[in-house]
Amino acid sequence: MRPPDFTLTAGPAAVSPRILAALAKPVLYHGDPVFLDTYARTEQLVGQIYDTASEVILMQGVPSVGLEAAARALVSPGAPVLNLVSGVIGQQMGRWLAGIGARIHELAVGFNDAIDPAGVAAYLDAHPDIGLVAVVHCESPSGTMNDCAAIGAVARDRGVLTLVNCVSSLGGMPFSADRWQLDVCVAGAHKCLGGTDGISLITVSDQAWTAIEQNPAAPRDSYLSLLDWHELWHGKSQFPSPPSVPEINSLEAACDQLLEEGLEAAFARHELAARACRAGVLGMGLQLWPARTSIMSPALTAITLPAGLDGDAVCDHVRSRYGVMISSGRGAGNLVRIGHMGTTATGMHPVVGVIALGQALADLGVTVRPGDGADAALEVLAAA
Ligand SMILES: *Cc1c(COP(=O)(O)O)cnc(C)c1O
Repeated sequence: MRPPDFTLTAGPAAVSPRILAALAKPVLYHGDPVFLDTYARTEQLVGQIYDTASEVILMQGVPSVGLEAAARALVSPGAPVLNLVSGVIGQQMGRWLAGIGARIHELAVGFNDAIDPAGVAAYLDAHPDIGLVAVVHCESPSGTMNDCAAIGAVARDRGVLTLVNCVSSLGGMPFSADRWQLDVCVAGAHKCLGGTDGISLITVSDQAWTAIEQNPAAPRDSYLSLLDWHELWHGKSQFPSPPSVPEINSLEAACDQLLEEGLEAAFARHELAARACRAGVLGMGLQLWPARTSIMSPALTAITLPAGLDGDAVCDHVRSRYGVMISSGRGAGNLVRIGHMGTTATGMHPVVGVIALGQALADLGVTVRPGDGADAALEVLAAA
């Protein structure tokens, strides 16, 4: 098969020429003073994007690595943890936490819904032994958002730490680790930042460091050790393990690209792409998967499939027949997803996603007119 014309998945998202050029920069020795400056500068840019004064750790490896490292740092065997589950990523976090030996408490909602922060408050009040809440900001497999600002405040008020998966939200929608009172956050560069995958962007609050230092089970002398980064890199300027130089160059370019555009402008760009995509989907008579508009992610649109259709088969048809790569639902439900994150949250990308999906569904026997979807999506873009 030939390569796709458009990659409109829910991440990794397409990468801009500026980032590709950064990947092609000469690879310096990781101890070279020029690279060390780049590294320190990149940490600082990531802190700006997180809106935090907390320590930033850039751990090599896709964000699943950073999420596991964070969970291992925070959790000791037998510790009660409240895991919030509104989708398959939250569910997976529960399995990881259980694997580390946490005593799991779970608040769960349907995978088209979001966690109610008042329910979190009530649960924590009823279970004062819980010291950690784990939450996914954007549940990318189902296109929904949890209110991390409210959940962060609820937890901090009760002296409970938060572990936040913001892999698919950072850079594409408002986020503030400090104002939202979040303790440990983990993101990636390959979603709304428009960068490449292979790196975990982690912030750790002072409260969280205190807990991690007191956790006898927190990894040390391990690739997964946050403490090693804290003590060796930020304490003695020694890398616990040498970073991938091209990966840091790529991340620096992604951060520069985003901050030069301006965070507010980037958020507005994602929101507009999302509105256009949703309007296109609804304009073709299809249904959006999330229960309410207020919980829909600006980074991707999840679309309910008509009964009898299989998400993987629909995505395969869109890809093979029309050269557009979109995403299935990864087990979240009978849905497909069009990503509009990073470089694909611009211009005509959402229109392309809508009409490619619409035509594929029409081919598969669904009564939809892709032109109606294009009209509705374009109307949103034209009015902006
Ligand atoms: C993409 C994503 C991940 C995992 O990222 P990997 O690159 O697969 O490690 C985790 N959580 C969320 C919410 C994501 O969107």
